[in-house]
Amino acid sequence: MEDELRCLKARLEEREKEVAALKNKLARVEKDRASGPELYEGVTPLKPLMAKPALSNEDIMRYSRQLLLPELGVQGQLNLSKTSVLVVGCGGLGCPLAQYLAAAGIGRLGLLDYDEVELSNLHRQVLHGEETQGQAKALSAASAVKRLNSTVECLPYRLQLSPGNALQLIQQQCPHSVSGERRLRAQWQASGVRQRPEDGGTEMVTNCSDGGVLGVVPGIMGCFQALEVLKIASGQGSSCGQKLMMFDAQDTRLRSIKLRPKQAGCAVCGEEPSVTQLVDYEAFCGSAASDKCRKLHLLSGDQRITVQDYKSIIDKAEPHLLLDVRPLVEVDICHLPFSLNIPLSRLEEKKSEHIRLLQERISQLKQQMEGDCRPPVYVICKMGNDSQKAVQALEKMSGSEVDSVSVKDICGGLSAWAKRIDPTFPQY
Ligand SMILES: [Zn+2]
Repeated sequence: MEDELRCLKARLEEREKEVAALKNKLARVEKDRASGPELYEGVTPLKPLMAKPALSNEDIMRYSRQLLLPELGVQGQLNLSKTSVLVVGCGGLGCPLAQYLAAAGIGRLGLLDYDEVELSNLHRQVLHGEETQGQAKALSAASAVKRLNSTVECLPYRLQLSPGNALQLIQQQCPHSVSGERRLRAQWQASGVRQRPEDGGTEMVTNCSDGGVLGVVPGIMGCFQALEVLKIASGQGSSCGQKLMMFDAQDTRLRSIKLRPKQAGCAVCGEEPSVTQLVDYEAFCGSAASDKCRKLHLLSGDQRITVQDYKSIIDKAEPHLLLDVRPLVEVDICHLPFSLNIPLSRLEEKKSEHIRLLQERISQLKQQMEGDCRPPVYVICKMGNDSQKAVQALEKMSGSEVDSVSVKDICGGLSAWAKRIDPTFPQY
């Protein structure tokens, strides 16, 4: 009876949370609709972008500082006004790109992003703001662009670019900039190839949420992108053709590498291409086009415990060792008390000082537990991916490099701990 009551209460609580979340979302969607540009959820036909016959007095005043450049001039400005650009992704690169294109007077901007604005985006995705958290990024970017230059036509798309919609979307948004389906295929393919991890499998693919990024760095690259687009759109042509530009932000160094010209035997853009369809980018890279973490599944159910299980182990003061395998820089941000920090990389390299430390703690634990010969070790990390790799590494060491232990990982890591056990614990 008691159990049933508790269970029902818990279920009711969960439903109430769901209702509250839905109400929130509804309010957001209604607010989005009431203000600013309309959000597109699919590919819809567009009216052709009309060329301006001449610059208005207001145009002349607004763009005067760039009109004075002989490389641009009135004709270049008119060229910008009849150009349509599709910005794929309204994040760290897309924000400065869209911002400078709009400021310079581009005619039409398609802004594509399937994601919503989060607090952790704001240090680099500078078109969004505190007040647009939870809003579709495409819409948030479009509103910001409109505030900057209301004469730019903005088309926000809440979509993910996929093999199913890419050709249609890009061709209708930019009918003149792409010389045909085949070239688009080639570019899509090429970007897929460059992103693919060469070795080490798909676990090697990193993203901003676990790799870290200083906000100004994508900002600089986005500005370079804007510069090249403006040169192409105004009629000067790009100076980056057949070049790969690399920027080392640490040393503030720019390098340019000349790329091979198009090859007649290329499988994608050659004379007899064998690749004739867009690939599924996510399947190809084994990674989602997102800055969120993917979940690994390396361990079986009996090798893992939930954060709730771990909480009750602490509550019952059961002797154990908590091993935090995150890098030191993350442990400095936050950690659970009593945890021992040995980064996954050190564990995998079997660094002797770290193995000694680990063995010391296991011995202490054994003394404390007396009879039991396999002390429990629980491994934690940020999201519950590295902790699984660490369990596998520790299992190999158990009984050889260190005394025999029973190792389990804590599902969902510190992120789950913050969500389900301790809401005051920081999330990053
Ligand atoms: Zn090629």
